[in-house]
Amino acid sequence: MDIESERHRVLVIGGGNGGLSVAGRLRRSGVKDVAVIEPRTEHVFAPLQSYIAGGLARASDAVRAQAEVTPRGVTWIRDRVVSVDPDGRTVALGSGRKLAYEHLIVTAGLETRYDAVPGLEAAMAEPSGVSSYTLDLAAKASPALRDLRGGTVVFVQQPEPASAAGVSQKPMYLASDWWRATGRLAGIRVVFVSPESSPFGIPAISAELQRKIDGYGIETRFDAALTEVRPQQREIVIRRGDETETIGYDLLHAAPPQSPPDWIADSGLADPTDPHGFVDVDPETFRSRRFDDVWALGDAASVTTLRSGGAIRPQAKVLSRNLLAVLSGKAPSHRYDGYTVCPITVSRHTVVFAEFDGAGRLAPTVPGWKTLYRERRLSYVFDRWILPWVYWNLILHGRA
Ligand SMILES: Cc1cc2nc3c(=O)[nH]c(=O)nc-3n(C[C@H](O)[C@H](O)[C@H](O)COP(=O)(O)OP(=O)(O)OC[C@H]3O[C@@H](n4cnc5c(N)ncnc54)[C@H](O)[C@@H]3O)c2cc1C
Repeated sequence: MDIESERHRVLVIGGGNGGLSVAGRLRRSGVKDVAVIEPRTEHVFAPLQSYIAGGLARASDAVRAQAEVTPRGVTWIRDRVVSVDPDGRTVALGSGRKLAYEHLIVTAGLETRYDAVPGLEAAMAEPSGVSSYTLDLAAKASPALRDLRGGTVVFVQQPEPASAAGVSQKPMYLASDWWRATGRLAGIRVVFVSPESSPFGIPAISAELQRKIDGYGIETRFDAALTEVRPQQREIVIRRGDETETIGYDLLHAAPPQSPPDWIADSGLADPTDPHGFVDVDPETFRSRRFDDVWALGDAASVTTLRSGGAIRPQAKVLSRNLLAVLSGKAPSHRYDGYTVCPITVSRHTVVFAEFDGAGRLAPTVPGWKTLYRERRLSYVFDRWILPWVYWNLILHGRA
C-alpha cells in the first residue's frame, strides 16, 4: 500500500487514557478519519493497580480488550511507532509500514525504567520485590502485603517525571490499615522513602497525609534518592544530601523511574534543552511549538502540572476543541488551566482527593467545597467505584 492510501486526517499515537479520550471526542465531533496506533491488545486502567496492590481489586478488574474500548468509528492500527518525520508528515511503524497524517496527536505516555537504578530490575524478579506501577507486580504485591507477619517493608516513591507520582503511596496506607486491623502493625517496620521534601507538594494535602503517616507509625526518609538495590542481601541504598544509608527489607514496594519514549526526542518533537524529551507543546493549547500539525497531551507532553488521568479529561477537551478550530481554519483559542488530581487512598475506606490547578491552588470539583480534599469516605467511593465506571463507559469514548 502506498503512503497516499494510508493517510489519515488525524493520527493518534497511543491508545491509552489520553489517546482514546481525544480520538473519541474528535470522532463524536464529526471528524471522519481518526486512527489510533496502539500495539497492545489489552487496555489497562492504571489507577486500579494501586487497589490491586493494596488488596481491594483483582487484576482482571483493570483490563479490557483494546478492541472493546476503542471508540466506535475510530480506526485501530495494531502496531508500534518507531519514529516520526514531522517535516514529511509521516510516521514509521515497527512492521515497516509508513503512515501519513494531516494532524498528529502524540499520547504515548511514559515508560517504566526499572533499569535506571542498579539492582532494581533484579529485585523486582524476586518474591520480595513488588510495585503497583506494573500490573503483574501489583498482582504479586497483593498477597505479599496481605500475608506479611513481621519484618521491614520499604515503600519507595519515584522521582519526577512520573505518572501521578503521589499515588505510589496508596498501597502503603492500604497495607498499613490492613496490618493494624489484623493486629500486626506494631510488629512491622514500615519505611517510606521519597525524593520529595514532604508527603505532597501542596501544604494542606501534605498535612492530611502526614497525619496518616504519624497515625500508622511510618518512618520517613524525605529528600532521598534510591541509588542502588541489592536483591540478594535485600537491601536498598539511599542518598540524602552527602549521606548514604543502607536499609534492609523483607519486602520492597518500589515505584520505578519513568521517562517518555526515546523516539520522541530522536524524531525532533522535543525541545533539545529538555533533559527528559517530552513532546514540546504549548501547555495551555497542546499544539506543538515546533510543528503546527503536531499535538500532544497526557504523560508524554511537556505539561507543567502533575501528570494524571484526572488531568487528561480537561486536556482532551481543550485539545480537541483547538484542533477542531484549526481544521475549520480558525486559531486555537481554548486554554487549559492546569487542573489535575491525585487521589490518595489513606485507609481501606477513605481517600484524600488532591485536586489543584497549575498554580498549586486547591481546585475542588464541587466549587466552593474548600475542604473536599480532606480524608473522606465519599472520595473513596468515587475513586474506587464510580471513577472506573466513568472511565470505561464515558472517558474512553470521549463522552466525559
Ligand atoms: C500505578 C498507577 C496509578 C495511577 N493512579 C492514578 C489515579 O489514581 N488517578 C489519576 O488521575 N491518575 C492516575 N495515574 C496516572 C494515569 O494513569 C496516567 O496519567 C494516564 O494513564 C496517562 O495517559 P496517557 O494517555 O498519557 O498514557 P497511557 O495511558 O500510559 O497510554 C499510552 C499508550 O501509548 C502506547 N504506546 C507507547 N509507546 C507506543 C508506540 N511506540 N507506538 C504506539 N503506541 C505506543 C502504550 O501502549 C499506551 O497504551 C496512575 C498511573 C499509574 C501508573
